[in-house]
Amino acid sequence: MTKKLFIKTYGCQMNVYDTERMVDVMAHEGYQVIDTPDEADLVVLNTCHIREKAAEKVYSDIGRLRVMKEKRRKAGAKDSILAVGGCVAQAEGAEIHRRAPVVDMVFGPQTYHRLPEMTRAADKSKSAGDRPRIVDTDLAVSEKFAALSKKAVAAKKTAFLTVQEGCDKFCTYCVVPYTRGGEFSRSFEDVMADAVKLNEAGVLEVTLLGQNVNAYHGHDVSGTEWSLARLIRHLAEVTDFKRIRYTTSHPHDMTDELIAVHGDVAECMPYLHLPVQAGSDRIVKAMNRHHTVAAYLKTIEDIRAVRSDIALSGDFIVGFPGETDADFQATMDLVRQVNYAQAYSFMYSERPGTPAAGWDDQVESHVKSERLAELQEELNRQQRAFNDNSVGQTLPVLLERTGKEASHLVGRSPYMQAVYVDVGDGALAEQYFGKLVDMKIISAGPRSLKGEFVG
Ligand code: SF4
Repeated sequence: MTKKLFIKTYGCQMNVYDTERMVDVMAHEGYQVIDTPDEADLVVLNTCHIREKAAEKVYSDIGRLRVMKEKRRKAGAKDSILAVGGCVAQAEGAEIHRRAPVVDMVFGPQTYHRLPEMTRAADKSKSAGDRPRIVDTDLAVSEKFAALSKKAVAAKKTAFLTVQEGCDKFCTYCVVPYTRGGEFSRSFEDVMADAVKLNEAGVLEVTLLGQNVNAYHGHDVSGTEWSLARLIRHLAEVTDFKRIRYTTSHPHDMTDELIAVHGDVAECMPYLHLPVQAGSDRIVKAMNRHHTVAAYLKTIEDIRAVRSDIALSGDFIVGFPGETDADFQATMDLVRQVNYAQAYSFMYSERPGTPAAGWDDQVESHVKSERLAELQEELNRQQRAFNDNSVGQTLPVLLERTGKEASHLVGRSPYMQAVYVDVGDGALAEQYFGKLVDMKIISAGPRSLKGEFVG
């Protein structure tokens, strides 16, 4: 009998990937995904710890689910199982059961492959009150990938493929090394087995994922080490992927070998997300970023030399402890110099357990807001200019989903811009859905482009 599964995903692409894998493993248990938690047999919160007050937001969601469960119980329906997974679960562990006894299972990012057995154990109990309190926050990554690789994958045109997880960089503001564990690269054979499986299922665009994806250094059975650059070249050679992307990269690991790939592997898309966080060496050092501003700019120069049209994206944190006006202006200078196609920017917020959270030179919140507004104005201007520049060009677009309006098909340009086309009736939608099509860009907005079919 089909059971119903609801998963709420918070945060980054890695969590989106993890959610997809949870859906895969639970499909084998007879679970089908639904869009709301009300009728779900299993509710999973796949949490993220990267933003301020992340745990508090999870607890308020749990509060709402508690009310929903109570209503179901009063209506005589079977009680749903409530699970909290992801990075908040890893960080909080059993504390979640203490603060929210309504939660049945707590599991971390490295143990969700055991979701079927945890769910079966919870499901066996006669009543919700008898359920065992399950906490599984082991950090043994390799076991997870070995278990997941055996499962079939859903047929889609774009897919994420995790090749690396965790991080050893220990930026002073970041929780990832504590919640995802140390850096781990999957073996070459495991990655290739998953890649071939995705390709055979019809995937045209694959995004290789990792917290520090360009630090990938998986080994093959002979013990030879594979860099990300070599892996991309091999994928381009032996699979039919039309597009290969990778994210997120660290400036320190942006090797000449990887830069060269952008120049001579056509499948490697001309888009690079390369976070720098700040434009002042003093702040970059305090963040423990393992690179200098000059080294970052040199990488940008080198990559533009091999691929002049590359679209650059970045992450910025404003108001890091100790950031002066001059430091912030150095960030603005860097942004003007690089000229981004898009970027993500945030005010610094303390994340419990990280070194910078305890520093006493925190920047006042109104200063952070003013700086963020100034930075975002410039980044928005750059993004708009990049999009405007696409008007009149013909770009290949992979039409992979319907838009907000039923007659719209939406896809991505090589530069990661969202492109939509009005297909009118259903016949055209059917003809073009899931296809990589040349489109003429006829107008641009701040966040998307409008295209029409060529010819
Ligand atoms: S490189 Fe820094 S910001 Fe990125 S995951 Fe590692 S510690 Fe976090």
